[in-house]
Amino acid sequence: PGAFAHPTVPSAHPYVLVNYQGKTRDVMTLAHELGHGVHQVLAAPNGPLMAPTPLTLAETASVFGEMLTFKSLLATADNPQTRKIMLASKAEDMINTVVRQIAFYTFERKVHTERRNGELTSEKIGELWLSVQSESLGPAISLNEGYESFWTYIPHFIHSPFYVYAYAFGDCLVNSLYAVYEEAETGFQEKYFDLLKAGGTKHHSELLAPFGLSASDPDFWKKGLAVIERLIDELEALETE
Ligand SMILES: [Zn+2]
Repeated sequence: PGAFAHPTVPSAHPYVLVNYQGKTRDVMTLAHELGHGVHQVLAAPNGPLMAPTPLTLAETASVFGEMLTFKSLLATADNPQTRKIMLASKAEDMINTVVRQIAFYTFERKVHTERRNGELTSEKIGELWLSVQSESLGPAISLNEGYESFWTYIPHFIHSPFYVYAYAFGDCLVNSLYAVYEEAETGFQEKYFDLLKAGGTKHHSELLAPFGLSASDPDFWKKGLAVIERLIDELEALETE
């Protein structure tokens, strides 16, 4: 089921690999990888050193493409059951990418802060893990015996500390961009293409400025989270129909 878009070198076109079986998920994966491909083609003129994007922007075009495709598929799905499944899996994906990764990040901060006071036992790490997990998952999920050691299944904690933030950051960034797009501001497309063309030459603050977005502004995050909220509201409305 794996897929990728490999930029190879800027003088050649990128290569996309997908295993397409015609499922909705496959359509989304294709949109995701083609988003990477478009980004890689547009950024290529920056050359092999500056075309690749930093982590903060690496998933912008892919997730944006996925969102456009999702909305288009949803608009044509007239069967309420299909709509419900689509909305539920999208909302679940977004919660996983944003809420869950933020919980991971919070756990890492707690561990590293606590470590300043001395060596940590595995019991203490498990305790910190459970406290963050139960807070982020809420009362509807009961955590069973043994879950205290599940922090060990996340390789990032060991191999690339604090990397998890990039998933939440990337997703919120795209959601905020999408919210701007939905408000149908004129000239969005030109500005969006300019963002992609920049590749790795500019910081996200500079690239988001033309959209009136700034990651240091709490409203930026609220805008992004509101996109998820609207999906959940739509799902709940279907539930009561
Ligand atoms: Zn991707």
